Amino acid sequence: TSEREGAVEYVFKVVVIGDSAVGKTQMLGRFTKDEFSVDSKSTIGVEFQTRTVSIQGRLVKAQIWDTAGQERYRAVTTAYYRGALGAVLVYDITRRQTFDHVARWIDDLRSHASPSMVVMLVGNKSDLASDHHSRAVTTDDAVEFARDQGLFFYETSALRGDNVEAAFMRLLEEVYAVAV
Ligand code: GDP
Repeated sequence: TSEREGAVEYVFKVVVIGDSAVGKTQMLGRFTKDEFSVDSKSTIGVEFQTRTVSIQGRLVKAQIWDTAGQERYRAVTTAYYRGALGAVLVYDITRRQTFDHVARWIDDLRSHASPSMVVMLVGNKSDLASDHHSRAVTTDDAVEFARDQGLFFYETSALRGDNVEAAFMRLLEEVYAVAV
């Protein structure tokens, strides 16, 4: 991964969506700064963060947008989706409702976003899954749902860092394959 800003050839806008408190902001912080912030809402008001990665030898700047809390009021707007080539749709594996709402987020994407947008479904907080009482969404259910809807899928832990890099990189590689 190179960070030589001067040689960036492509900029990909990616939006992060999903219910409140599923870990969207922490996932973004993990991917762009490799950090997990205890003061979770420190990035409020910041519209996007960037990270430059190398894909097939080309420097791609990922410009990753955070809802900054708008999803609480179901006020994520068309402007938020405009120009986005990829979406990370996050739910919390310990809260069933956040998975049940994924279909609603997909409707949102279908009405506001480009049909060619690449969507990565992410079940976050996998660090809590070792306690079987905490898990509320099985991996099998999510895999099946993702397959039916044509989404890519990963379970991640923004807290531990597990799979966050893999999920974002896979998404960016798929966007590259579609858009370049
Ligand atoms: P957002 O509202 O979707 O942006 O969610 P945040 O990123 O603010 O996270 C919501 C809460 O979940 C915070 O208390 C985070 O510390 C916590 N959290 C986020 N990701 C993880 C994770 O992977 N594991 C655990 N255990 N907690 C997490």
